[in-house]
Amino acid sequence: MAGHAHHDPDLKTADPELFDLIEREDARQRDSIRLIASENYASRAVLEATGTSLTNKYAEGYPGRRYYEGMDFVDPIERLAIKRAKQLFGADHANVQPYSGSPANLAALLALCDPGDTIMGMSLPSGGHLTHGWKVSATGIYYKAVQYGVRKSDRRLDLDQVRALALEHRPKLIWVGHSAYPRTVDFAAFAEIAKESGAYLAADIAHIAGLVAGGVHPSPVPHADVVTTTTHKTLRGPRGGLILCRKKHRKAINKAVFPGLQGGPHNHSTAAKAVAFHEAMQPAFKTYAQQVVTNAKALAEQLLARGITLVTGGTDNHLMLLDLTNRGLGGRHAARVLNDCGVELNANSIPFDPRTPFDPSGLRVGVPSITSRGLLAEHMAVVAGFIDEGLKGAASVDTDGYTAEADFVAPLRARVQEFIGAFPAPGL
Ligand SMILES: *Cc1c(COP(=O)(O)O)cnc(C)c1O
Repeated sequence: MAGHAHHDPDLKTADPELFDLIEREDARQRDSIRLIASENYASRAVLEATGTSLTNKYAEGYPGRRYYEGMDFVDPIERLAIKRAKQLFGADHANVQPYSGSPANLAALLALCDPGDTIMGMSLPSGGHLTHGWKVSATGIYYKAVQYGVRKSDRRLDLDQVRALALEHRPKLIWVGHSAYPRTVDFAAFAEIAKESGAYLAADIAHIAGLVAGGVHPSPVPHADVVTTTTHKTLRGPRGGLILCRKKHRKAINKAVFPGLQGGPHNHSTAAKAVAFHEAMQPAFKTYAQQVVTNAKALAEQLLARGITLVTGGTDNHLMLLDLTNRGLGGRHAARVLNDCGVELNANSIPFDPRTPFDPSGLRVGVPSITSRGLLAEHMAVVAGFIDEGLKGAASVDTDGYTAEADFVAPLRARVQEFIGAFPAPGL
């Protein structure tokens, strides 16, 4: 019997329903001012690498030591990604296999701690990440987590508190790194505290990796035992994770990622990470990282000028936290209204938040995506104006009765779309 014809239609033909949904998501990303601090636009080259035959291949193990045949090209690809990651961040060792930031963090813990050990991290409501020991995370379930926060007076990291807790609890590992902290982090000071208390230092630069790579935020690499990151936030790569570490931890980290936590690496993501690392080594990326910081400062100034309160009064990095308590607005309602107006951001807890985590008092705003579209400091007044208008609109309607049909929404949305439409979105 003859083999049946090779039927291999494109996505549009094979699955029009799904194709249509993706097309609409493309348009949504094109038509909105995307201010979610953890998001970005990956380049066409990065997107292209993710959609390749590499997704077909199993490659459990590491280059030169695999459990499968056919590694002629997957090995050189992973070696290239490792070489570039080491070069980009000046690290002794890189593991490019973590599926994402959370598995990278779990791998770091698996490598350096035993279940039940004490670990320390910044609490989620203060701006830390779930995986730094928050109670509902595996890292809070399998480890005894001690959480530090920010100072009440100025909402900044309280190194005296970190030191006091570290000396009291003697954690095996201390996390430094955040998802919603608008200020520069002093990694050297954390290293000092870790040394004093006999702890490993793990730095999680998921949010700021692109700023570190671009030289506009200090690097934790000289100070930390292990550095973890995502590759899809300010770094502008594919969704994925990366672990950098000192030579002495190389074996433990590799063993923790595979076979400790994961099976076969996602080779298409590895390839796209290699592309992103290459892009991040170009002079244009340094310019991008500088522009991110410049834009964030400019947007912060423009928001402050409109009477909007910012946690810590401003920003040193790519993000800021808007405190809505004096506007009588819940973060969730505000975020929903702004989203309907084409300004995409997320509700976020602020330190010492009087409201619940599900409907907190803050909004998190980041500029990595709009900077990737070419917006400059001079455009931040327009962006701040849209945010302010949206917030006033949100305050003018009843939270429960609100729908996107509200009078002010469509006109504002049209202006947002017209403005942002002038800036081409990379990759789309
Ligand atoms: C985003 C983030 C992570 C988790 O990354 P995922 O890829 O979503 O798993 C970890 N740590 C910090 C600080 C983050 O901001």
